[in-house]
Amino acid sequence: MDTLQDAPARPADGRAEELVRIRNCRQAYHKDSSVDLVVLDNVELTLHSGEIVGLLGRSGSGKSTLLRIVSGLLAPTSGEVSWRGKPLRGPAPGVAMVFQSFALFPWLTVQANVELGLEAKGVGRAERERLAEEAIELIGLGGYENAYPKELSGGMRQRVGLARGLVVHPDLLLMDEPFSALDVLTAENLRTDLIELWAEKRLPVKSLLIVTHNIEEAVLMCDRILVFSSNPGRVAHELKVPFAHPRNRHDFAFRQFVDRIY
Ligand code: ADP
Ligand code: MG
Repeated sequence: MDTLQDAPARPADGRAEELVRIRNCRQAYHKDSSVDLVVLDNVELTLHSGEIVGLLGRSGSGKSTLLRIVSGLLAPTSGEVSWRGKPLRGPAPGVAMVFQSFALFPWLTVQANVELGLEAKGVGRAERERLAEEAIELIGLGGYENAYPKELSGGMRQRVGLARGLVVHPDLLLMDEPFSALDVLTAENLRTDLIELWAEKRLPVKSLLIVTHNIEEAVLMCDRILVFSSNPGRVAHELKVPFAHPRNRHDFAFRQFVDRIY
């Protein structure tokens, strides 16, 4: 069995830097003619470079809300959010996002969809082309640069979504249920490829934050998992996953660990 010591959660040389820190975070949505809906209450989250962190919870438990707060797209009702030790006001630099529904532009080629990730950053044309080709190749879509999304399978479309996130070499890649629109086998292939690239240190990111409602997926991918309880507004507990990559879902200790969650 793998041990906690083997887990590559954080580099042992102390180079892990704090990317995000969220303290005492509360998010309430105002509902007309009734009490506010408290979606997050007293939530704490710290993310370091070198780790994959999961947000695990049922639908409606506040996972996407927390992602929006981490990215700076939503300021919480109260609480502190800092990026690299500085208070965050507005969209966080160094964050990219991968969506459940891929969010590709159907009228643009794979290459153009991926380059979009760079356009807002004022990167010149030649450099955009080079970076996009590199990301497309990395994620296993080399040769499909000129294809349109409708010509691709769901798994390939999500690879484009991933390439568009990776092309900016973000400090943190946020993934909101990135595999739940895919069939089981396709999801497994993509997960496995992603973890392999991560373990080989070939992914141009420092940290991944993955939202999922799939317990096994969270344990297969993440070093730490924040478990959201079905009690609204609560994060039930945080788990450290004591297995190194690559993880085997059929391993007895792995199964025992998965079965004890919730
Ligand atoms: P999850 O991603 O875990 O499914 P969400 O963060 O999307 O959960 O939503 C948590 C709860 O907050 C849900 O009940 C949802 O309906 C509600 N909610 C989310 N966004 C808004 C909003 N902009 N206004 C009002 N209620 C919202
Ligand atoms: Mg959600």
